[in-house]
Amino acid sequence: MPHDDTFLLPCVSGGGVEQAQRVETEGAISTVSNAPSASNKSRHLPRFALEEKRVGFVSLVGAGPGDADHLTLGALKALQSAQALLYDALVSEDILALAPQKCVKICVGKRGDRLSVSQDKTNALMVRLAKKGLHVVRLKGGDPSVFGRVEEERQYLEAYGISHKTLPGVTAASAAAAQFSFPLTHRGEARSVTFLTGRTKDGSIDLRDESINDPMASLVFYMSSHNAAHIEASLLQAGRSSQTPVVIIENAGRPTARACSGTLKDMAALVAEAAFEGPVLMGVGVAFGHARLALSVSVPVKARLQA
Ligand code: SAH
Repeated sequence: MPHDDTFLLPCVSGGGVEQAQRVETEGAISTVSNAPSASNKSRHLPRFALEEKRVGFVSLVGAGPGDADHLTLGALKALQSAQALLYDALVSEDILALAPQKCVKICVGKRGDRLSVSQDKTNALMVRLAKKGLHVVRLKGGDPSVFGRVEEERQYLEAYGISHKTLPGVTAASAAAAQFSFPLTHRGEARSVTFLTGRTKDGSIDLRDESINDPMASLVFYMSSHNAAHIEASLLQAGRSSQTPVVIIENAGRPTARACSGTLKDMAALVAEAAFEGPVLMGVGVAFGHARLALSVSVPVKARLQA
């Protein structure tokens, strides 16, 4: 399906189309002279000169881990010009409130096994809304490029000829590192950081990554706290020292964040004890020994285990 590299994107706020904004995507720039005229009866939707130009645009945007302070300026601008917003379950109310009131907001979020909308339906929805000529913002928790299925969505959009752009976000590991003052890499101690998941498509666990038994490698596990016991056993079996520092963070980057720390031999016990309800990251490696948990709002688990 043909589409333009540049198109006029109406900014909707309050009562309707207030101004037209030029949006550039990769490739050559060509201008479409299709600004809504004052006499246009419908001032709520973009009107393109030619029918085949009624193709919208999808911004695949990283919302960061929760707090609106983590949004990039680019993400904020995309949100403010959104006409349809498809957002993940982990995106906070504060951030959703930044989209125009008139913007259609649909939660397509997933939390672990609880799927509200299948990936296929989300893909189809993005295309359907974009084909109406809307600026669709697909808002994802953290960074879309980290366990964010962004490539699946890009490929789907391209198959339907929909232009898209990806805006990065702060991944949960970066937010946790900043909030609890630990590094992910540290000169002389941690020369690499690997983001892993203990959850695979078929639900099995695959920890073949070479870095798992490298004492100088930091490991950050996403979507894995339910498998903490298996991960702990696998890392010990692979040769990681039982004394390797671990830090476990819930709700990183949010005021409600909780963190606890210990060593690898206690990792599963720490997770079980904490009975986390929010999203959780597990960090394993020497670098995590620098975590300053005094910044955490609650450290009862750590206190109990170390007593
Ligand atoms: N794209 C996201 C990750 C999505 S996968 C990112 O870059 O952060 C979802 C997993 O990310 C959760 O199961 C959890 O392991 C982790 N996660 C997301 N937000 C989190 C948060 N605020 N605190 C801790 N972990 C988080």
